[in-house]
Amino acid sequence: MIIDTVRTYLGGTDQTVSECRHCGTTVESKTERCPECDHETIVRYHVG
Ligand SMILES: [Zn+2]
Repeated sequence: MIIDTVRTYLGGTDQTVSECRHCGTTVESKTERCPECDHETIVRYHVG
């Protein structure tokens, strides 16, 4: 389906901000553990 293709494409550029809840460091979207404080407290926010 064309719509599914578009959805997948847009998903790759989805505006999501991931940051450490503990120290507030912005991390990459796939990061599960904060590289700064080593806490697994990554939260994600969808923007836009
Ligand atoms: Zn942190």
